[in-house]
This record gives sequence, C-alpha cells and structure tokens, in this order.
Amino acid sequence: MTILRNGGKIPYLAIRTLWATFLNLLFPTPCRTCGGPLNGKARSIICGSCWGKIRIIKGPLCGCCGRPLSSEKALSYSPGHLCGLCRSSEFYFIQARAAALYERGGVLREALLLFKHGGKRSLGKALVKLMIQEGAVKFDLANFDLLVPIPLHPKREREREFNQSLVLARGLGQHYKIPVLKGNLQRVRPTPPLSGGRKERVAQVRGAFSVRRSDRIKGKRVLLIDDVFTTGATVNECSRMLLRAGAVEVAVYTLARVP
Ligand SMILES: [Zn+2]
Ligand SMILES: [Zn+2]
Repeated sequence: MTILRNGGKIPYLAIRTLWATFLNLLFPTPCRTCGGPLNGKARSIICGSCWGKIRIIKGPLCGCCGRPLSSEKALSYSPGHLCGLCRSSEFYFIQARAAALYERGGVLREALLLFKHGGKRSLGKALVKLMIQEGAVKFDLANFDLLVPIPLHPKREREREFNQSLVLARGLGQHYKIPVLKGNLQRVRPTPPLSGGRKERVAQVRGAFSVRRSDRIKGKRVLLIDDVFTTGATVNECSRMLLRAGAVEVAVYTLARVP
C-alpha cells in the first residue's frame, strides 16, 4: 500500500478535521435564534443572517442619554437637543451611548440572555466585537483614562460565575489599550432585578454602590461599561459615586439600549 506518502501515517489534524466534519453533517448545530444551519458568518451559536438583524444605533440621538430621536428636526434647531427624560432628570454622566438596540424578541436581547443566563460564554467574543466596532463611531475613546465595569453584588457574581460588564470592559480595554479598573467600584447592597418606572429604579439603586479607593479615581476621565441601558438609574448612581470620588468626567457606554 503506497497511498500515503508519509510512511502510511494519517496526520492527526486531518483525522480530527474529518471527524469534526462528519459530526457536523450528522448533528448540525442549529442557530439558536432561527433554528437554521450555522453558516460561515455565524457568531458562536447565532447564524450570520440573524446577527445581521441586530439594529445598530445611529443618529439622530439625544445629546445626553443617547436615546434615538424620531427626527433630525429637533437637532437642526439645537444640536445639543435633549430628550424629555434628560430634561426632567438629573444625570451625572456627561453622555451615554450604546452600540445597538435592545428590542423585545430581538436577536441582541436573545444573545445577551444566552450569554448571561444560558451558559453560552462563547457569545462574549461576538458581543465585545460589536462594542469595539461601534465604540470607534460613538466615542473618542482616546479621551478616557479608565474603563470601569458596573459591578454585580458578590453574591450574584458567585451565582453567575462571571460579571458580563467586566467581560465587555476587558475586551474593549484590550482593544483600545485603556486600563480596566475592577473591584474598586463596588455594589455594597444587593438590588433586586430592577423593575418599575424610572422613579422606582432610582430609589432602588440609591446608596447601592461605593468606591473603595478614591485615589485611583481622582482626576480621571472614566467610561462606565454595562450591558444594557434601560432608564439609566444604575449607571447614573455609579456616575454620582465616581464624581464624588473625584473623577473629572464620567461617560457611559453600553452594549445595548432599550429603544
Ligand atoms: Zn439564525
Ligand atoms: Zn436623553
């Protein structure tokens, strides 16, 4: 038998690739959102065409909280136009921006839930990539000295085994070469999953965070990182604590935002 040139040995890698192809044919992993086959453009367990349905946030936006505005008109009269929420509330952060929309039944919401609660940690990479790609469009990232992830309460972090905001911050920090400050901003009081309107949420998070060492915050321009911006209550409370600790400026960047 002289079929194989290398002395009859089939390279191990070739066997592994063949075996993987064979298994894939037998048991193709369906896309977790549409059930279709995962193609070459798939992100982890979500197919390329589903991923393409994620709605990236584009202008016109509220100058402060980043809420998409329905028309350009308001901005043409005043470029720093604020939405109703920002005009009626006290936000401590200078600006909040998000990569994409968090829509009920949407692919991004599904992906984030699978990542956070469904054990699909492999999705983290794709979610970080989305934030990296949009980060350059939405911020001048060179302006920031520090990335600070919104902390979970230690009990919640133990249950989940990881903090999704830290995963996102680390990915961004690595890419943009900005240090990530972990463990300094702490959640000192567990909060139930936030619910209700903005007023209730603000009350629920009041006093839930503290800064351990203000010397590491003092004089810094901080970008807070979180997964979802809903009413802004959590990131606002954290901004308040960071400014109190001496930060010169706090902005917020989240992966997703409710429309
Ligand atoms: Zn799909
Ligand atoms: Zn606003």
